[in-house]
Amino acid sequence: MARGSRKRAELAAASLLTRVGATRPEHIDPIVSAKTLGIEVAFGQLAGATARICHNGCKARIRVSDQIVLPGRTAFSIAHEIGHYLLGHTIASEHDDRTWAHATCDRRPAQEEREADVFASTHTMPEAMVRAHCDLDGANLYAARAIARVFPASPVASARRVIDLSPATCALVYSETGRVRWIHYGRRFQARIFPGTRLHVATLARAHFDGAALEHEPRALPVASWLPLAVGAGTIIEHAEVVPEPGWGGVLSMLSMLSPETSARAPG
Ligand SMILES: [Zn+2]
Repeated sequence: MARGSRKRAELAAASLLTRVGATRPEHIDPIVSAKTLGIEVAFGQLAGATARICHNGCKARIRVSDQIVLPGRTAFSIAHEIGHYLLGHTIASEHDDRTWAHATCDRRPAQEEREADVFASTHTMPEAMVRAHCDLDGANLYAARAIARVFPASPVASARRVIDLSPATCALVYSETGRVRWIHYGRRFQARIFPGTRLHVATLARAHFDGAALEHEPRALPVASWLPLAVGAGTIIEHAEVVPEPGWGGVLSMLSMLSPETSARAPG
């Protein structure tokens, strides 16, 4: 993602936090943020999406699915739609069906989706507040859970935020039915893992798909179990959990590379 677009989304998110007077995590509520902007928020049935924004000519409205289980996911979805609104992306019209063809999240340009995600992530989990609430150095799911307890954030959104802010060489992998579905890379993670790749038998995620109980503690693994093309005998830490949301149900694995000098005291 271009640095300029990321910065623009981050600035818009910070500006809205200032406008609603949010200086502590408990002040952050995307529904309040939406109302401050004059956007209505309504809950109900919504096929194929968690939230959608549209306008009726004079007012914008965000419709949110009532099927979402986790409050943090609801909050993130609303913030994502506010992002589309504030960043000038096309908003569908209630009165013109043609506008829906390119103004729903599954049809928008990938760039707009990334910008709205950056906006939502920054608005619901501002960096300065997040750093004060968890230890990001280790890049594990403990940090993500600490964020999700305090901020309006889902397990997936909080884990992605850890990856964005941690100084560790880390990445987040979501897998389903034994295969990698998507990867979110930290800035320092140079290796690449490809969607569709079958998980190595040594990974915690693969063990879950093979029928074993998912191991809840972080585990040190040979680096080749996640990165078959890696050179050398490095170590990678995997910390895994199942995502308990309708439409998800796969395994989230937070990966953190260990330097040779720290490998000797790795867990597992
Ligand atoms: Zn979107």
